[in-house]
Amino acid sequence: MKRISILGATGSIGQSTVDLIARAPEAYAVEAMTGGRNIALLAQDARRLGARIAVTAHDDLLDDLRAALAGSGVEAAAGRAALLEAAARPVDWVMSAIVGSAGLEPGLAAVDTGATLALANKESLVTAGPILLDHGRRAGATILPVDSEHSGIFQALRGEDMASVERVIITASGGPFRDRSREDLASVTVEEALQHPSWSMGQRITIDSASMFNKAMEMIETKEFFGIEAERIEAVIHPQSIIHALVGHCDGGMIAHMGAPDMRHAIGYALHWPERRDLPVERLDLVALGALSFAKACPKRFRALGLARQVMDQGGLSGAVFNAAKERALDHFLAGRASFLQMDDLVAGALDRMMGREGFDRVEMTLETVSHADQVTRQAVDDMIRVAAD
Ligand code: NAD
Ligand code: MG
Repeated sequence: MKRISILGATGSIGQSTVDLIARAPEAYAVEAMTGGRNIALLAQDARRLGARIAVTAHDDLLDDLRAALAGSGVEAAAGRAALLEAAARPVDWVMSAIVGSAGLEPGLAAVDTGATLALANKESLVTAGPILLDHGRRAGATILPVDSEHSGIFQALRGEDMASVERVIITASGGPFRDRSREDLASVTVEEALQHPSWSMGQRITIDSASMFNKAMEMIETKEFFGIEAERIEAVIHPQSIIHALVGHCDGGMIAHMGAPDMRHAIGYALHWPERRDLPVERLDLVALGALSFAKACPKRFRALGLARQVMDQGGLSGAVFNAAKERALDHFLAGRASFLQMDDLVAGALDRMMGREGFDRVEMTLETVSHADQVTRQAVDDMIRVAAD
C-alpha cells in the first residue's frame, strides 16, 4: 500500500488526483487531505478516501469541518500551522497542488520528510527553485513534475544524456485570445479570460494562460527543474494542446510528448513512477486530429514571455518578485481594479523597482529573503494600483 497525502485536494489538480486514487482505493492509505473554503467537498472526499486527517487552511472554519466530518473517524484541523503539520506527516508520496506561493512551505515540509513530491505547484520552483531542490537533495526526496509540459520533458528525457540536449520547447495553446492583437486585449473581461479553449483548470491558472503568464512561469520552471540554460528554452503556440513538450538533441532529432489534454496523465505518471500503469485518459486518434499546427509566441504581443527571460537571466530573488507581482496583479484584475494588459505593466514595474531601486538583486536567496521579497512586492503592486487610480 502506498501512503499518500494530497495538499490542495479540493482544487482542479487535487480533484483529478482524488479521482485516480478513488479508482483503486485498496492500493492507497490516505494520510492528509487539505483544502480551503470548500468544506463540504473536503469532508466528502476525506470520508470517501478514508483519510486520517483533513485540514482547512482557514482557522474560522474548524467547527464547520468538524461538523462535516462527525462520525467519520477523520480528524479535523484548521489553520496554517495545522496545514504544515499535516504536510510533514511521514508518507511515501505527496501531491503539492496548493495554488500560489502559499504552496511553497507545505511542499518543503513534505520534501524534508524524504517523501516523493509530485509537484503541481510551479510557484514554488519559480519563487525558490534552488531552495526546494536543495531540500530535496538533502532529504533524499524525489521531486517529480506534474505540469503537463514538464512531465512531458521528464518523460522525453528518460534514458537520455542531458549533455546531448540542445533545446527544450514547451507548447502553449495560446489561450482564448490567441488570434487577437495587443490593442484588442485592452478591454478583455474576467469572464472572457476564463474561457480556455482546451484545458479545464483552476480560475487563477486559466487567466494566467490567457495572459501567457502561465507559460512565462513554465519557462522559468523548466530552467529551475531541469537545470537547462535560458537560451535553450523556447515556447511555441500549439492550439491543439496535443504535443506538450519537445526535447531537441545535438543530432537534430526531437522527441515529443503527446497526449490528450487531461492532467490525470501527468498526475498518474508521477503517482506510478518509475512504472507506467493504465490511466483513464482518452487515447489519441491521429487521423481524427488530422493536423497539428504551430506558431510563433511573439514576446511583443505576450510581454510576460519577455519578462520570463529577464527573470531567467537575473536569477536570485527575481523569480520571487515576478511570482508575487503576478499573483497580486491577478488579484487586482479579478477585483476589477486592473485591466488585463495592466497586469504586464504591474509585473514589469515591480521587477524594475524591486530588483533595481530596492536592491533585491544584491540579496542572497534564503527562505526568509524570499518571503520578505514576496511581501514587499505585493505591497509595491498595491502602491502602483493606488497611484494609477489617483
Ligand atoms: P485551484 O484553484 O483549482 O485549487 C487550489 C487548491 O489550493 C484548493 O484546494 C485550495 O483550497 C487550495 N488553496 C488555495 N489557497 C490556499 C492557501 N492560501 N493555503 C492553503 N491552501 C490553499 O488550483 P489548480 O488549478 O488545481 O492549481 C493548483 C496548482 O497546480 C497551481 O500551482 C497551478 O499552477 C498548478 N497546475 C495546475 C494545472 C491545472 O490543470 N489546473 C496544470 C498545471 C499546473
Ligand atoms: Mg502547464
